[in-house]
Amino acid sequence: MDEHVITIGWVDAPDEIAYHDYVEGTYNSFSCTCDLPLPDRDTATRHAAESGRCLMCLGSGTISINPHQSSGCDACAGSGRSEPGTIMIQARVTESFVKEVAALLPDEFGLCDVVAALEPRMKGGAEAVLSVAAGLIRYLEVQGEVVLCTAPDFLPGEGVEQRYGDPLWLRVR
Ligand SMILES: [Zn+2]
Ligand SMILES: [Zn+2]
Repeated sequence: MDEHVITIGWVDAPDEIAYHDYVEGTYNSFSCTCDLPLPDRDTATRHAAESGRCLMCLGSGTISINPHQSSGCDACAGSGRSEPGTIMIQARVTESFVKEVAALLPDEFGLCDVVAALEPRMKGGAEAVLSVAAGLIRYLEVQGEVVLCTAPDFLPGEGVEQRYGDPLWLRVR
């Protein structure tokens, strides 16, 4: 079985990476062990999809949003794999799109709120929305616009659905 291991590098990158530059892979280099030319993130993402790799981290299991920071990939929980048949993510996510979606989020929000804000605005299946949501939260975190807050330690009232273990974020104003 062919192994496709995609490597993402940083080339002449500034300290702050704008979201659209991250999405487009402006300062990234992409290469695969199969030597297929991968000139940009679009091509690399498509190739990752073909070989069943996670579309956010392209199979590495970590996400690096700027040259100095990398962290685990939320979309695949670090496994680097995606379900077969995963729909190609809508890669053209602009900075204004991010701001628009961020403005809709409540002060305290979870992944499901981000998904709810994204769903009417983008095409693709639930998995595509989820991976964009994960990338968007990571971006807002790096920008210092949101912080991860721990799960609440109170018991919700009767009839209130609270799934423990779901991470929640707070907006910084
Ligand atoms: Zn390959
Ligand atoms: Zn991943």
